[in-house]
Amino acid sequence: MGEFELIRQYFAAAACAKPSGNLLLGIGDDCALASLPQGEVLAISTDTLVSGIHFPDLCDPFLLGQRALAVSTSDLAAMGATPLGFTLALTLPKAEADWLCAFAKGLNLMAEQCSMRLMGGDTTRGPLSLTLTVLGHLPPQQSLKRSGASVGDLLCVGGTLGDAAGALPVVLGQQILPDHLAQPLLAQYWSPQPQLALGQALRGRATAALDISDGLLADAAHIAQASGVCLELRQDALPLSPALQAAYGGEQAVDYALSGGDDYRLLFTLPPQWLPVLTAEGWDISVIGRVSQGQGVVVLDAKGHVQTPLRQGYRHF
Ligand code: ADP
Ligand code: MG
Repeated sequence: MGEFELIRQYFAAAACAKPSGNLLLGIGDDCALASLPQGEVLAISTDTLVSGIHFPDLCDPFLLGQRALAVSTSDLAAMGATPLGFTLALTLPKAEADWLCAFAKGLNLMAEQCSMRLMGGDTTRGPLSLTLTVLGHLPPQQSLKRSGASVGDLLCVGGTLGDAAGALPVVLGQQILPDHLAQPLLAQYWSPQPQLALGQALRGRATAALDISDGLLADAAHIAQASGVCLELRQDALPLSPALQAAYGGEQAVDYALSGGDDYRLLFTLPPQWLPVLTAEGWDISVIGRVSQGQGVVVLDAKGHVQTPLRQGYRHF
C-alpha cells in the first residue's frame, strides 16, 4: 500500500474527514480551508504522543486512535473553545491494514463524539508516534486562561480524579483487578471524554482554567503561578470514584488523584456567586479548595493542617 492509497483509504474516506460546517475544504489539497464565526478567534494546540512514553508499545490501535484525539481535544475544552477540527501527523514503522483500519475507527469515533473534523495531516515512516494539532474557536474576551484566578475564588474540578492513574498499572500489566473495578478505570484511561460542554459553560464565569494532564498538584501549580496566587486544596474534598476507592483504598486513591495524571478533567477557579448557577445547570463539579493570597499549592486535611503529598506530577525532563 502506497502513501497516497493509505491516506485515501483510511483518512480521507473517514466520515470525520468530510467537509461540513466551518470546514470548507478538507484533505487532498495543499491546505485545508476553514471559516470562523464573526468576531471569534482561533484556538490552536499541538500534542505529540510517542510510543513507549505516552502509550504502551503494543496497544490496541482502536483505543489509541480514540485516546490520542481525546487528550488533544481536551486542550480546547480547557480554553472554553468550540471544536473545529484537527490535523494528524502520523509516523508508522509499517503500513499494516488491520492496524490502520482499527486506528482510523477509534479516531473517527472520538471525532464524532467531539464534533471534530479531520482537516489534513502528514504520513511518514519511522518509530510509531502521533502529532495532533487541534483547532477551535471562541470569542477572544471569553477564553479561559490560566492567569485570571483571584483571591476568594473557589477551586473546582469537573468529574472524578485519579481514575486513569488507577488504570495505568492494569494497562501496563502490573496489576490485576476484578472486572467490575478495572472496567470503569480503563474506560477513563482509554477514552477520556474532553469536557467541551463544561468548558463552554465556564466562558465568562471561570476566572482561570486548564485541563489536568500531569496530575492535579502539578497542573494546579500552573494556575497558581500564572495568576500570582496560592491554591489551597482540601484533601478530603477530592472527588474519588467508587471504583478507584474500592480498587486501591483511601491513601493510594488520594495519591492517584493528587499526582497521578492523565485525568483530562477541567480544573478551574470560580467566583463563588457562579457555583449555584452551575449547580442548577446540572454540571458534575466539585469544590476542592479556594484561592488565597500567596504562591504555590498547599494541601490541607479536614482540620486545615498542611499535608505533604507523597509525590508531585509527571515531568518529561
Ligand atoms: P503535501 O505534499 O502537500 O504536504 P501530502 O502528500 O503530505 O501533501 O498529503 C496529501 C494530503 O493528505 C494533504 O491534504 C494532507 O493534509 C493529507 N494527509 C496526509 N497524511 C494525512 C493523515 N495521516 N491524516 C489526514 N490527512 C492526511
Ligand atoms: Mg506532507
